[in-house]
Amino acid sequence: MNKIVFATNNKNKLAEVANQLGGDFELITLEELGCTEELAETADTLEGNAWQKARYVAKTYGVNCFADDTGLEIACLNGEPGVYSARYAGQQKSAEDNMALVLEKMKGEKNRKAQFRTAIALILNGEEHLFEGKVDGEIAEAKSGAKGFGYDPIFIPEGYTKTFAEFSMEEKNTISHRGRAVAKLVDYLKTT
Ligand code: IMP
Repeated sequence: MNKIVFATNNKNKLAEVANQLGGDFELITLEELGCTEELAETADTLEGNAWQKARYVAKTYGVNCFADDTGLEIACLNGEPGVYSARYAGQQKSAEDNMALVLEKMKGEKNRKAQFRTAIALILNGEEHLFEGKVDGEIAEAKSGAKGFGYDPIFIPEGYTKTFAEFSMEEKNTISHRGRAVAKLVDYLKTT
């Protein structure tokens, strides 16, 4: 079976992607690779961060790998938090603090449009490929739901009346930013 490393330490992301990758590929984690350090993400775009993580892991460990970076882009906040989504409310990278800050900044705001965007950088046998996925939606007035992670409790995807934190993982994968990017990645991997 083809082995591929997913360059993330985020267990929620690993579970989502493993669920979608199915049986054709064996997903190797950074932990299994012996990489326990936090990967640097110092670029100023999602794509830049995804490449930074994928290139570091491919070069350091000599493996085929992919890395993702995701941002929540809110219209009335001029695209914030965007590439700074993880540390929007500070270096503690707390999902609770980040959501509280977004809700506070959007108090009384009528335009609640937002999108999640994911960039996935793949390095396969030395060749580089980029996959993207996005989902439109709205920021809720308050948190709701206990599944998922990150900003899921305040994001309502277009066409639904519940937040991502009220979706099952499988359901979220069929319409989410990362789900869509991973579907493109899987299609590509199946042709190789
Ligand atoms: P990163 O891609 O791990 O750098 O994530 C950036 C920020 O977006 C972090 O705060 C994550 O918790 C959040 N995030 C990433 N993916 C999702 C998602 O699928 N739902 C909600 N929040 C997410």
